Amino acid sequence: MTTIAEEKVIRYRGSNLNTKGWLQEAALRMLMNNLDPEVAEHPENLVVYGGIGKAARNWESFDAIVKSLKELENDETLLVQSGKPVAIFKSHADAPRVLIANSNIVPAYANWETFHELDKKGLMMYGQMTAGSWIYIGSQGIVQGTYETFVELGKKHFNSNLQGTITVTAGLGGMGGAQPLAVTMAGGVCIAIEVDETRIDRRIETRYTDLKTDSLDEAIRLAKEAKKEGKALSIGLLGNASDILPEMIARNFIPDVLTDQTSAHDPLNGYIPSKMSLEDAEILRINDPEEYVKRSKASMAKHVQAMLDMMDKGAITFDYGNNIRQVAKDEGIENAFDFPGFVPAYIRPQFCEGKGPFRWAALSGDPEDIYKLDEVILREFSYNEHLCNWIRMAQEKIEFQGLPARICWFGYGERARFGKIINDMVASGELSAPIVIGRDHLDSGSVASPNRETEAMKDGSDVVADWPILNAMINAVGGATWVSLHHGGGVGMGYSMHSGIVIVADGTKEAAARIERVLTTDPGMGIARHVDAGYEIAKKTALEKGVNIPMLKK
Ligand code: NAD
Repeated sequence: MTTIAEEKVIRYRGSNLNTKGWLQEAALRMLMNNLDPEVAEHPENLVVYGGIGKAARNWESFDAIVKSLKELENDETLLVQSGKPVAIFKSHADAPRVLIANSNIVPAYANWETFHELDKKGLMMYGQMTAGSWIYIGSQGIVQGTYETFVELGKKHFNSNLQGTITVTAGLGGMGGAQPLAVTMAGGVCIAIEVDETRIDRRIETRYTDLKTDSLDEAIRLAKEAKKEGKALSIGLLGNASDILPEMIARNFIPDVLTDQTSAHDPLNGYIPSKMSLEDAEILRINDPEEYVKRSKASMAKHVQAMLDMMDKGAITFDYGNNIRQVAKDEGIENAFDFPGFVPAYIRPQFCEGKGPFRWAALSGDPEDIYKLDEVILREFSYNEHLCNWIRMAQEKIEFQGLPARICWFGYGERARFGKIINDMVASGELSAPIVIGRDHLDSGSVASPNRETEAMKDGSDVVADWPILNAMINAVGGATWVSLHHGGGVGMGYSMHSGIVIVADGTKEAAARIERVLTTDPGMGIARHVDAGYEIAKKTALEKGVNIPMLKK
């Protein structure tokens, strides 16, 4: 029997259009790609990743978006409100073809309770970051960021890579599933605790995880052996993190590194409470959501307490962007924020240079297009050894999910330069169809998230949310193909605002001009944001690269 996702989600490939232009076609193919069963975590419910991060509000809205994109003229713009198409206006050829606003709630009401009420009434959906903005590319989308984090951690704490260390984490979902691969790429051993066996199986199928076990003792034994031999190994351990971590402590097993990527940002639909089977959790969620949330939050408190205890016993511990510390603090764990978030701990210097997770996908569906672009990077950016290493490793270890795609952390100047190369290669016919270029909302100048990307900003501007709004506006003005502004991604309702862009390289000279503008302003916003917060690296980068910041003294 075919499922609804299999029936509705069509894998458009090749160089023939199903729409009136490549910009609309790109939006159509990426919407489909987000919900491709090979890519999405739960396509039947339109869920792409990250708890209930969706690509469209419901199947009726999905059909209407598809129809709208097919009919959209080259001088029109489609407006999407929380996953539902609400208007098509005449704009102009260089304007975005789609503008998206997801999950935005007036600040005083911005919490999960309000969201769930609106969701139940059919008035809203949760867009996460790249789910509702149609630029999710599977677990690869996060794997380099995760790898960068672990490499930085290795340099900082072990003076090298992660060889000879054990990392314990939890959550093998759409994003968390990247952790075992990133740890092994950095040379280490990883035990990833996951409560849903199908998620472990998926990571094994796609080679993100090496093996699975339901025995804690076996996991510890295998991890210790691999550590001793200096071998990289990843183990998916079936269980609930809030139960397993205390058991590890009881066995006197303290990992070298400790983090977590369960969907703790969403206590109702993301996190599974302690000592519950998946089936029982499902029933309780439906029958008594209040009791579910109560148990879920209490389990998170227990989970964070175990992380704090392990930290005290020597584990290098950090929060991996799911807001679990906030929930624990609200539950009475006063020192929940004693371990840092990953951005201030490891990533901020890159943000100061406008660097962040940049990505591209081949609309043709032909992996050769991506491999040709890999070669270009190895040739044109050969001075950046770290980047070239990454590309070689990605070629070897990363399976494509859905449309072939690649990710790499590029900064100011590099993005525009690479964008131009891509567009030229589409124009010359070297690539078999246009390329879609985008990024995560988790980037240097596109997000306000005080427990994550903007935690512990130097000037105390953690909660200032003007930046993602300015980012969305300047990118729309510059001619991004679609622009999105979301609330609540990563860390849940009330805790973040963020914007996304996607731009299509279709080989035309108009696209070249748009690419030059957008891929300059977008990372430029990252530099401006960090200059404004007083970071020296950002000031130096702005002066060196000529980013015009009115109040920056030379
Ligand atoms: P997901 O919903 O696809 O996966 C979460 C996984 O956690 C699921 O497989 C679930 O079974 C498992 N899980 C839930 N409770 C558990 C428990 N108590 N013990 C063990 N496993 C449990 O979500 P995702 O896309 O993988 O994202 C995970 C979290 O990371 C989210 O909160 C997301 O917002 C955040 N995130 C962080 C980053 C980053 O760069 N740091 C990026 C994206 C997402």
